[in-house]
Amino acid sequence: MDIKSFLANLLDFIFPPICSGCKNKLVQGELFICTICLHSFPKTDYPDLRDNPITHRFIPAIPITYGLALYKLKKQSLLEQVLFAMKYKNQPKIGRFLAMQCGNIWHNDGWVETIDAIIPIPLHKKRLQQRGYNQSDFFAQGLSAALHIPIDLTCVKRIRNTPSQTKEKKETRITNLKDAFTIPQPNLILDKHLLLVDDILTTGATLASCAKVLLEQGAKQVSVAAIAVVEDV
Ligand SMILES: [Zn+2]
Repeated sequence: MDIKSFLANLLDFIFPPICSGCKNKLVQGELFICTICLHSFPKTDYPDLRDNPITHRFIPAIPITYGLALYKLKKQSLLEQVLFAMKYKNQPKIGRFLAMQCGNIWHNDGWVETIDAIIPIPLHKKRLQQRGYNQSDFFAQGLSAALHIPIDLTCVKRIRNTPSQTKEKKETRITNLKDAFTIPQPNLILDKHLLLVDDILTTGATLASCAKVLLEQGAKQVSVAAIAVVEDV
């Protein structure tokens, strides 16, 4: 054993990696989430990617093409704990890991080859500074690697910081998001089919606001994907 693996093993012995869901120790070969938790997360399995609880949140106001999420997110579930750790407890790599799970299921689907680029919803720079990372970037990186689609981090800019949306009424949220995004070089998105990704799809207001700008500025199609969707908002 070389010194690096020896030290890694020693660290695992002193601080054994634990599952972000159930907090049990992980066994060899498991990463971030134990096998039992991973298999317990309820999947969406929507038979139609154009007509499902995700697309219904956008259409007809924002005519997105496909709506995808791997899991259904329930309150006080183990998945909620995992996604909380990913977003707020400095464990963004969980997003990349869960993207690989999406990739395992989605890689053979016909829609994948119609996508020109993956775009993670940008955080405003103030929030990015506070948190230190954008969890959607990690999810997008994982999807890009798993589905062999390029990622584009430059074509959308967030120009307005919006207050945390969880406690606000739907109407206020939508007003807050008006003009939150801009496309600095619309020629780069012209006639493209873009997959806009966020970690959790709740009301869809953020994704809708961003998708609207992309479509207005010349994108041919916009689809949306999230790790998990809250079905009963
Ligand atoms: Zn677990």
